[in-house]
Amino acid sequence: MLYASPNTKNALISFQSKYENFINGEWKPPVKGDYFENVTPVTGEAFCEIARSSKEDIERALDAAHNVKNVWAAHSPTERANLLLKIADRMEDHKEELALAETWDNGKAIRETLNADIPLAIDHFRYFASAIRSQEGSLSQISDDTVAYHFHEPLGVVGQIIPWNFPLLMASWKIAPALAAGNTIVLKPAEQTPASIMIWLEVIADLLPPGVLNIVNGFGVEAGKPLASSSRIQKVAFTGETTTGRLIMQYASENIIPVTLELGGKSPNIFFDDVMENDDAYLDKAVEGFVMFALNQGEVCTCPSRALIQSSIYDDFMEKALARVEAIKTGHPLDTETMMGAQTSQEQMEKIMSYLDIGKKEGAECLIGGEKQIKSGELENGYYIQPTIFKGNNRMRIFQEEIFGPVVSVTTFDTAQQALEMANNTLYGLGAGVWTRNINQAYRFGRNIQAGRVWTNCYHDYPAHAAFGGYKKSGIGRENHQMMLSHYQQTKNLLVSYSENKL
Ligand code: NAD
Repeated sequence: MLYASPNTKNALISFQSKYENFINGEWKPPVKGDYFENVTPVTGEAFCEIARSSKEDIERALDAAHNVKNVWAAHSPTERANLLLKIADRMEDHKEELALAETWDNGKAIRETLNADIPLAIDHFRYFASAIRSQEGSLSQISDDTVAYHFHEPLGVVGQIIPWNFPLLMASWKIAPALAAGNTIVLKPAEQTPASIMIWLEVIADLLPPGVLNIVNGFGVEAGKPLASSSRIQKVAFTGETTTGRLIMQYASENIIPVTLELGGKSPNIFFDDVMENDDAYLDKAVEGFVMFALNQGEVCTCPSRALIQSSIYDDFMEKALARVEAIKTGHPLDTETMMGAQTSQEQMEKIMSYLDIGKKEGAECLIGGEKQIKSGELENGYYIQPTIFKGNNRMRIFQEEIFGPVVSVTTFDTAQQALEMANNTLYGLGAGVWTRNINQAYRFGRNIQAGRVWTNCYHDYPAHAAFGGYKKSGIGRENHQMMLSHYQQTKNLLVSYSENKL
């Protein structure tokens, strides 16, 4: 089924021609009156204008968040949980519209937004609604008559900055735990994908007490920096590039506030020889795991962008993998049959193209793809790249640098020790995949790979109740799982003596 493009006849959604900021429960034009054009990667055409905010807008949003922070913190966990549940229900009622908005703004296939991005975002609100209600404090008995109580308290006003690859999901990963924990928020979306969050706000805005969640659009240096470096936030949560993460930490160090960083990756996907052993269903599953490099057009921080394949099965495994990659359907992103959509921006498409050149120049063998996809009709000027497999070695730039596109670099190993060394030979440590049914090997690998998430016989699964985050240059802190609440809380200890006379 092909969904009608937004703003056309029979379309499920219409974008407004201009979007303001959402501050104190109202749409507010940017103080300086500037806007920028937002382009859909599906066709390469501008479809709305977005507030180009500055420090003044961030200050107004911070005023709103500060005005209500004590009121929101005083809401009981049950009241906060109920708001999250209402948001989730409202999103469920508007699932298709949200999926369509996300596909149009970001370029990803509607099959994914309908079946992954939006359902996962909804589940995140539900999960943190239950997590906050089940969170308990603790008590330590210090002596017969002295007790230490530990309470969780919100931090206050938090600043959140998100990237463009999963706009609504990344917003949900940040907003749900922060609100659940009793904080108020100023969030800045990525300048490449601000529009789906505006549609989301239209869907849920009436549920939010004014000031609790404020969204300010704009560019990194103009709007993101004044937010992340403000002395009026008590924490900054950031998802984006490692180089930007370094700046965010520098800003935060001026104010001595906590930082969580979800950054880049160069995740290894390791296939041991037993994946070829007489079980077609398991082999098919492993091949699907390999092809995950093309999910979301490869614009995933955990993209399995390095595949390490045991030499003895390389030829047979790659024959199947290549056939599967050839079968990836690259049609219109609004067609529910399409598996791979458009890259999010022209800049990103050009960056990926430059890596296709780099791979060829450094002597990697291009096994499939390696070019821009030529489209016609309304997609002619959209941003489409062929799924690409290079064969090379782990020292090459295409094995070491984050491409953030549908490109996998493949190499071989003979022994498990070699595979482990290659897997860990990277600046990053976000995700990894291990494919084997030798349980000892799977366990050892899972424990020894330096990555925050090791998928074993699966890949690209993101349940809300499994901790997610990076080792090494891939970040600090975790998202998902109830442990995330602690990143949005501080601990109050009451040390109480119940003795009438002893000090
Ligand atoms: P980016 O760092 O360029 O931008 C991310 C956000 O930071 C945007 O909102 C941008 O406006 C803002 N920003 C840029 N410069 C800033 C500054 N000086 N001060 C404050 N804010 C600033 O990243 P991107 O290109 O949007 O996203 C892609 C990157 O995100 C990839 O490296 C990817 O691996 C990473 N990512 C990581 C995760 C994870 O969970 N680890 C998830 C998604 C994406």
